[in-house]
Amino acid sequence: MTFIDTLNSLDIQTQVSHTLLSTKDKVQTLLRQKTYKIDDLPALLSIAAESELEPLAQKANKLTVQRFGKTMQLFVPMYLSNECYNTCTYCGFSYENKYPRKTLTDEEILKEGLILKEKGFQHLLILTGESPKVVGTDYIVNAIKILKPLFSSISIEVQPLSEHDYKRVIEAGADGLTIYQETYHRESYKKYHTFGKKKLFDQRLEAAERGARAGFYRINIGALLGLHDWRYEAIALANHLHYLTKHHWQCKFAVSFPRITDVIGGFKPSHIISDKALVQLIIAFRLIFPDIIITLSTREPQELRDQLIPMGITQMSAESDTAPGGYSDSGAEEQFDVSDHRSLKEIQDTLLKKGYEPVMKDWESVITSEHS
Ligand code: SF4
Repeated sequence: MTFIDTLNSLDIQTQVSHTLLSTKDKVQTLLRQKTYKIDDLPALLSIAAESELEPLAQKANKLTVQRFGKTMQLFVPMYLSNECYNTCTYCGFSYENKYPRKTLTDEEILKEGLILKEKGFQHLLILTGESPKVVGTDYIVNAIKILKPLFSSISIEVQPLSEHDYKRVIEAGADGLTIYQETYHRESYKKYHTFGKKKLFDQRLEAAERGARAGFYRINIGALLGLHDWRYEAIALANHLHYLTKHHWQCKFAVSFPRITDVIGGFKPSHIISDKALVQLIIAFRLIFPDIIITLSTREPQELRDQLIPMGITQMSAESDTAPGGYSDSGAEEQFDVSDHRSLKEIQDTLLKKGYEPVMKDWESVITSEHS
């Protein structure tokens, strides 16, 4: 049994209807609760709960400070390639977008790594498009080996791999896996993924479990908000997280709520999620999952990122550039526009002013394999 069976058995649409029907009394009961279960999600995401976001946010803040202290772990993404053999209609790297593609050489990977290390980053997320021929497991393993001496933690966000290949990546020195389902709604998934291996919904959905079995220390999942109803995505994502934490208790889990931003080709999301709804979503996940890492990316603008800090966020990206070689001005095409352009130093100063400790290193992976 895998999460595929669970997802297939869930009646998410009915739960979405419950979010619309929850009463003010139900929300008042929520406010009196000390702990929350996944069954509380429809009420936490309800329209009735919108007017009680302030007291719910205070609860979420209290819980986050209890579990994590007033700390914020900072990381930086490094794009290695914009080659992609998939068509995802919302992405700048999509196959049918015609522009010269760029994949970093060993020297370029090292150069980018040295720039980011010099800035002070210790946690690195490396990303590629999905082109098994150009940026397959061998390429990823090689990149990790180049970068590992420079960083205390390396995570990957690449095409879904087999358990065997995830083990190779871990042996090379990676400790974290990020894999977003994009949308948990099968029909929508079909609509947005029209060409390439990414069409395989189930193969992607099982990737987090393969990664957990392979031995990743930290696994980050999420949905790309804007492709389908955000409440539907939230309920599916919460169930996915719940399943993973029950079956793979040895891993640390993280969740992200990326919203679609501007990309080449001018894709416009069909299901806009408002700032207020994003706040409600983050609060709901923090209350139900007090121990998970909640990540916020530079897709969100500076003002909103700062406002979201006390609501349950524990990890943020900084100074992101979404083009391969972007930190050394390669001029390559980027995946999407980032909105928060502050430097690492500016973000650290903001956190300190708010009473938060910016954490550059909270984990150091040790390479134990003879293969490394
Ligand atoms: S979302 Fe990923 S798989 Fe899809 S086009 Fe972009 S890089 Fe390729």
